[in-house]
Amino acid sequence: MNKRDYYEVLGVSKTATDDEIKSAFRKLAKKYHPDISKEPDAEEKFKEAQEAYAVLSDPAKRKQYDQFGHAAFDGNGGAGGFGGFDFSGFDVDLDDILGNMFGGGFGFSGRKKNGKTRGDDVLYHMDLTFEEAAFGCEKDVKIDTSIPCPDCDGKGGHDEATCEVCHGSGTITSEQHTIFGSFLSKTTCNACGGTGRTFKRKCTTCGGRGTVRKNRTITVKIPSGIDTGMRLRVSGKGEAGSNGGPNGDLYLEFRVKSHQFFQREGDDIYLNVPITITDAVLGCKKDIRTLDSVVTLNIKAGTNTNDKQRIKCKGIKNASTGRTGDMYIIFEVVLPTKLSREQKNLFEKLSETDLEDATYEKFTKFVNKK
Ligand SMILES: [Zn+2]
Ligand SMILES: [Zn+2]
Repeated sequence: MNKRDYYEVLGVSKTATDDEIKSAFRKLAKKYHPDISKEPDAEEKFKEAQEAYAVLSDPAKRKQYDQFGHAAFDGNGGAGGFGGFDFSGFDVDLDDILGNMFGGGFGFSGRKKNGKTRGDDVLYHMDLTFEEAAFGCEKDVKIDTSIPCPDCDGKGGHDEATCEVCHGSGTITSEQHTIFGSFLSKTTCNACGGTGRTFKRKCTTCGGRGTVRKNRTITVKIPSGIDTGMRLRVSGKGEAGSNGGPNGDLYLEFRVKSHQFFQREGDDIYLNVPITITDAVLGCKKDIRTLDSVVTLNIKAGTNTNDKQRIKCKGIKNASTGRTGDMYIIFEVVLPTKLSREQKNLFEKLSETDLEDATYEKFTKFVNKK
């Protein structure tokens, strides 16, 4: 394994002062701390910097390192003989080094600040009718999540007192002596779970957890314009947080049922309107239903199947975008299949007249081409 030179890791010269070393490590720790860094190899980089700092910040170890290099610590006959030493098992006291930068309480992954933990988010699926999605609605949602225990206000017990083990800090600091010097190691206090508080009486309702499960029904306002696959966040209605941490959120994911007549594309509405052959040929007025009213449509003479007519702003009023869609009427000319004798006669009479239009004539010429 090729180990990088500790001075190189920290980016300092061989003659760097203690302050320069500390400041260089502080910069790297801030950059690569696994709790805050988004760099992909942050953890590796952080451990590397931590190890380099552990050695170079200790005058005796630094001297050994200067003399023997990594061999001083790698277990191959060097001065240390600590083969495979694992630096990840303990923390350099970062609160001391970084505390004033982050306002204290700087911890490692898995350590909870004051024991406060945000509750989990929960996801529910919900079906909406076409109209409910189009207009928005209020829906009752049955949810089953944890809530803060009503008997102890989510604390887990009664008669609160400061934890005697950690004296209210929530962490236990212990000194570890290693070949690299002494390290202050911080761990979450087991007696209070990091809250710094204990209780003379454990809450019997929640068994000390601070939360209880509860089936309940909440009413949720669904905005207009929801479509299949969209999610709505209901803030704070997820699982309860613990030790005073915030609740998670509730997410609703929707599936919108199709309508017998209306089709939807985004906020636009499409409606297929069947018209008789005489209405199509002669034109007519026809009542049709929009989402919220009945309007009279002027269908012009000579309307064909698939001809489109737009009715502005009769689509969905989308509460999220503020946009109102349009409505599109698609005509479909329906040919009669059962004719009375009289109607048949009328069609026969009609066929004796000259019905040809330009397209029809062009096609006839093409067929009769010699
Ligand atoms: Zn404690
Ligand atoms: Zn309780």
